[in-house]
Amino acid sequence: MTQFQSRRDMFHLPSGITYLDGNSLGPMPKDAVDQARQTMADEWGEMLIMGWNKADWMNLPGRLGDRIGRLIGAPSGSTVVGDTLSIKVYQAVASALELRPGRKVVLSDNGNFPTDLYMAKGLLDSLDQGYELKVVDPEAVSDAIDASVAVVMLTQVDYRTGRLHDMQAITRKAHDAGALMIWDLAHSAGALPVDLEGCEADFAVGCTYKYLNGGPGAPAFIYVRPDLADQVRPALSGWLGHEAPFAFDLDYRPGEGVSRMRVGTPPVIQMAVLDAALDAFDGVDMSDIRAASIALSEQFIREVEAGCSDVELASPRDPEARGSQVSFRFGEGYAAMQALIARGVIGDFRAPDIMRFGFCPLYNTADDVSQAAAALCEIIATGEWDQPQFKTRKAVT
Ligand SMILES: *Cc1c(COP(=O)(O)O)cnc(C)c1O
Repeated sequence: MTQFQSRRDMFHLPSGITYLDGNSLGPMPKDAVDQARQTMADEWGEMLIMGWNKADWMNLPGRLGDRIGRLIGAPSGSTVVGDTLSIKVYQAVASALELRPGRKVVLSDNGNFPTDLYMAKGLLDSLDQGYELKVVDPEAVSDAIDASVAVVMLTQVDYRTGRLHDMQAITRKAHDAGALMIWDLAHSAGALPVDLEGCEADFAVGCTYKYLNGGPGAPAFIYVRPDLADQVRPALSGWLGHEAPFAFDLDYRPGEGVSRMRVGTPPVIQMAVLDAALDAFDGVDMSDIRAASIALSEQFIREVEAGCSDVELASPRDPEARGSQVSFRFGEGYAAMQALIARGVIGDFRAPDIMRFGFCPLYNTADDVSQAAAALCEIIATGEWDQPQFKTRKAVT
């Protein structure tokens, strides 16, 4: 029995599989199947278009936003769910920039996930007003914040190494320089305690298919600091962010607070699945998840380093400086990961040489960790990875 045994039972974990990739796609919560069936059969099937009112589909984005808000230190009414994370990044940057007229720099780091940088750059190019996307090393971010910076946009946990930014300190630095702060919580929400309100972040975004287990393509979330939300122009001014969508006015008027960050029609079935997935977090304290995640990660590092000397820890050694993943570098990391997957131990690979393992205490156990570490060490010691079938790159790594 582990601390979270009753939670582990809530997930469908295929037999013979050790799953350490919940940082990319969380496993399926068992209740999600019934929830999807119920939403389809009882709501869509029976209620037809009346479901928008009768089953309250229209309020799913806000209701789910509040459920996620509890996990990221966001007060009720400050978070909404919808669209993909790339879209929410675009919206956050566009809205933030307008609040700092005259400033021309969006500052980010080269540990950020590329889509965040692509979306920001695409927006700045469209605006064509001399904006600059400045990308520095993660360690150099704090010193690069000056009076030219309109917006600092960072992902708290580096998707490759797991390195953790100090949200409190960087947010304060941004504010002291008069800049706004956007945090991407893609690898934080559901993985570690986040205190958006406490650190006074201006915007936060994140996805729900990683540690929140909302399923492939599950919609993203966006948070806007409550005292800013009514000043923000949502940039993507869709009809469901309008003050009165069913007035069908020809002119756009933003809705109240964060509701204006909604864009179009919500994906109701996927949201129903996410709703069921969030049940796994009910009554759970994120600091307990964090403590258990550190224990699993520390165990993994200890066992891998004791069993093989050919890999190099790519993650910070200090658990407080790391998210909920551990990465090792190995020259033939892609092939080694394929060999591991062939044995039923699932992590993933990020170019050029990073093998990545995510730890989710809601369903991962110390046994999972031991099995994964032993398999990895054996594959490397015996050269089991050195076979042609493990070396052909698939489209999704
Ligand atoms: C996973 C991830 C994304 C993915 O964006 P989608 O639009 O959902 O595909 C974006 N940013 C970060 C930081 C991520 O970790």
